Amino acid sequence: MFMAVESTLPTPVRTPASDKDAKALQFIEEMTKNVDSVQERVLREILSRNAETEYLKRFSLNGATDRETFKSRIPVVTYEDIQPEIQRIANGDKSPIFSVHPISEFLTSSGTSAGERKLMPTIHEELDRRQLLYSLLMPVMNLYVPGLDKGKGLYFLFVKAETKTPGGLLARPVLTSYYNSDHFKTRPYDPFNVYTSPNEAILCVDSFQSMYAQMLCGLIMRDEVLRVGAVFASGLLRAIHFLQNNWKQLAHDIATGTLNPKITDAPVRECMRIILKPNPELAQLVTMECYEENWECIIKRIWPRTKYLDVIVTGAMAQYIPTLEYYSGGLPMACTMYASSECYFGLNLNPMCKPSEVTYTIMPNMAYFEFLPHGSSTSCLVDLADVEVGKEYELILTTYAGLCRYRVGDILRVTSFHNAAPQFRFIRRKNVLLSIESDKTDEAELQNAVENASLLLKEFNTSVVEYTSYADTKQIPGHYVIYWELLVKDSDIAPTDDVLNRCCLQMEESLNSVYRQSRVADNSIGPLEIRVVENGTFEELMDYAISRGASINQYKVPRCISFTPIMELLNSRVVSKHFSPDLPHWTPERRR
Ligand code: AMP
Repeated sequence: MFMAVESTLPTPVRTPASDKDAKALQFIEEMTKNVDSVQERVLREILSRNAETEYLKRFSLNGATDRETFKSRIPVVTYEDIQPEIQRIANGDKSPIFSVHPISEFLTSSGTSAGERKLMPTIHEELDRRQLLYSLLMPVMNLYVPGLDKGKGLYFLFVKAETKTPGGLLARPVLTSYYNSDHFKTRPYDPFNVYTSPNEAILCVDSFQSMYAQMLCGLIMRDEVLRVGAVFASGLLRAIHFLQNNWKQLAHDIATGTLNPKITDAPVRECMRIILKPNPELAQLVTMECYEENWECIIKRIWPRTKYLDVIVTGAMAQYIPTLEYYSGGLPMACTMYASSECYFGLNLNPMCKPSEVTYTIMPNMAYFEFLPHGSSTSCLVDLADVEVGKEYELILTTYAGLCRYRVGDILRVTSFHNAAPQFRFIRRKNVLLSIESDKTDEAELQNAVENASLLLKEFNTSVVEYTSYADTKQIPGHYVIYWELLVKDSDIAPTDDVLNRCCLQMEESLNSVYRQSRVADNSIGPLEIRVVENGTFEELMDYAISRGASINQYKVPRCISFTPIMELLNSRVVSKHFSPDLPHWTPERRR
């Protein structure tokens, strides 16, 4: 279905677009030239301000701020190691545990622990650091794409539900925190950074109403749109899918100048009252484009001035590149930054490069970074300035908010240097088997879900003998596909279609809260599917692997597959397909 389309990359202009840009670019140069001294200063600042915290005192740092003492006394940790302290903060302990600065809120990571989002403590000033990194993105982009001040960006940006911890601290995703901050809401006018989406639409927590209003504004301002984006590729595809499902109503609103009554949020209605005016001509154009069966190049057809897509397509999002190429007619895809709830890391200094060539330059002022050579023990960490080209590392972080030598779980490869700053390719996130958008399902979670679901088969004297999985992103929204080989011991009482459908739902109930939120609140993951395969299929899979050189002794069933011949083999053996008949349970509240 998808054609490979050659990207037409703009040539770099290479002069700053304004004085403000020149300053930002100068800042990047200073940071990247002085990586090691900046890192030394950052560590000194973090350790001196947090010298009296419970955590640093526990390891007898005694006020030391040098790297050697820090490295010799402070252990490398995972989230689970510090969870007791995090729980104390969540329960209301205001003593300086990790940071002398008060914890302003928790950022809920899309990484999970025991099925719930991880809680990352943050402090107020981190917003400044995040904003600083954002402020560097357009000056770099302006070097490559001229004229971005002559129009607007159509960005689909969303907030998610917030909760409070038992101690009263807010817990919400980092972008929800940022969009709700004054840093974002009252940002000064910048001609290079004008969005079509009003703040009211971005800040509306109802994902349908938010998307509807943002799409409507994007259509109304179609002649002004110069770039189209979302944070991750999956979000942009969701927007296109939304247009497919809602264009008739959107065109009706544009034709008549009246807003869909399903939009009930008062601030959104109020701002749309000002933006929305009857425009039958535009409504007809939208209808003509969307009515067509063929949606190839739809982005360029509806927003003809678009110069590039602004979406992250690295890491787990690479699976969406062909679909985005299809819908955009091969527009360049800019992956501008690399960030997480724990810390914003860095930016892509060559944002118009091909997705396969994207590298991120970590800004040394954001936190203190260490790197664990992949597969080595935690005693061999290297500093940011000392990593070597060609090697892979796991990222370890010490932040102003008080995380110390924390394993983020990302594996990065050094590809080159910009000045003294290494540039990293994002390789993968550790232990992630399946991902459609921000969900990250690991092997243990999948195993647990299969075990729970297979309990429903017990009364039918049936068990799951083997399974594997696949993230199907060919359709929007994507969904998990689980291949099951069953042992039906008594064919008279074999499980019915209905039972297997319920197994799908039971698996979904067992998956982590990010998965369930995407299913329920965001509608960004479709119903889970179980494909039952013929008996003997997994043995054939093993024969295939062995024929390609796998050792019989060490062969393990892959718990996730994406290799085409294996998929073809499995799909040719499918005897029945089953889908989750309902939504799993999800509320913003945490289970613990
Ligand atoms: P979260 O914890 O939900 O904030 O997600 C942060 C994680 O998303 C990072 O640790 C990465 O695994 C992934 N991520 C963020 N930015 C990028 C990027 N530019 N490319 C690939 N993966 C990314």
